[in-house]
Amino acid sequence: MLSLPQMLGNVSKAHVQSPEDWARSVTDVLRDAAIYHQAHNGFYRAQCDALGVDPAAINDINDLQDLPLLPVGMFKRPDAQVLLTCSLADVETETSSSGTRGVPSVARRNSETVTRALVGLIGTYREFFSLSGGAGLFLNPSDSEASEMGLLKDFNILNSVFDHHVYLVADQSFDVREALEHLRRWKGHMTRHIVCPPFLIERLLRFLEQEKVNVRLDPYSMIITLGGWKRHTSEAIPAEGFREQCHDLLGVRPGNVRDMYGMIESNMLAVECHLHRKHVPPWCYISIRDPGQIGRELDPGGTGTIAVLDALNTSYPGFLLTDDVGDVETGTCGCGRTGQVINFRRRGQGGGFGHCPVSLERYLGSGTTANDEAAALMRA
Ligand SMILES: [Zn+2]
Repeated sequence: MLSLPQMLGNVSKAHVQSPEDWARSVTDVLRDAAIYHQAHNGFYRAQCDALGVDPAAINDINDLQDLPLLPVGMFKRPDAQVLLTCSLADVETETSSSGTRGVPSVARRNSETVTRALVGLIGTYREFFSLSGGAGLFLNPSDSEASEMGLLKDFNILNSVFDHHVYLVADQSFDVREALEHLRRWKGHMTRHIVCPPFLIERLLRFLEQEKVNVRLDPYSMIITLGGWKRHTSEAIPAEGFREQCHDLLGVRPGNVRDMYGMIESNMLAVECHLHRKHVPPWCYISIRDPGQIGRELDPGGTGTIAVLDALNTSYPGFLLTDDVGDVETGTCGCGRTGQVINFRRRGQGGGFGHCPVSLERYLGSGTTANDEAAALMRA
């Protein structure tokens, strides 16, 4: 069994715990996180009381599904500071994105959370990418095209493993020639890597194909993608075909084309191993919910709404109900790592305000106690 500091201190070891140790470790760190938020966050305490959940009573991994969840849509609200466990004065970073629906989602993190997330990401990148040096070409959308990239930019971690990097702001007017110029300049000097949302590398690939430009990156080059296709869903190509194109047009080995899954509101970043399976960090647990009955966790293998439970966050409860749809596998991957593997399928409908047992309005407005709320729920 590993404590949270032990996991963060040795991410590699935390990924190869026995399945029993993994279950016990992740249960323990999430129970401790839930106890912390229940004690220090009135809004979260009201949710626990309304559902009759005592985080201290969590004993088994199957109990984690009982923890109240915050719908990610709440982070778009102007009064979202109510979600904070820390004080506003302790907030170090505010990551904001306009998201898919135009309303900004704001995730606030205190210094403890930022430190833990940074340490966790360094360990995760080194575990999965074994990167050391080279040059990184970052293609960043300028708007809401891939808000998850904001998470990467906030945690400028990948830059620290590269010897050199360049950020190109890339949107509708994405200048492919400028991107290619950087790649040419680095040729022969450094191993070249590309980090961007998939729709931008796709544009680069289209350009190379149409203009018959021949670019061969290096034997250890990586293409790392994060974020969905959003408005560009019509351009989306299946992952395997995408990797083949990266190989054919850029000379990057398919095993080195890696996608990641994350969201701005969570510290959870699931990274693909060389077998293209997205591993959930050992300090997080993914619970797949029945879309029609969000309090219910689906049986193993079921596809439903993705809930992310993260133990790193002390700024607000990292127990989030996302708008995304997917499924999860638990066990030992062919790469040897244990724990959970997440399969993101699609964006859901969103707007899950109703899933919080005690709404912000009721919590802020009525002055009712949690017991009143619980009674109201019982009557409902
Ligand atoms: Zn794997």
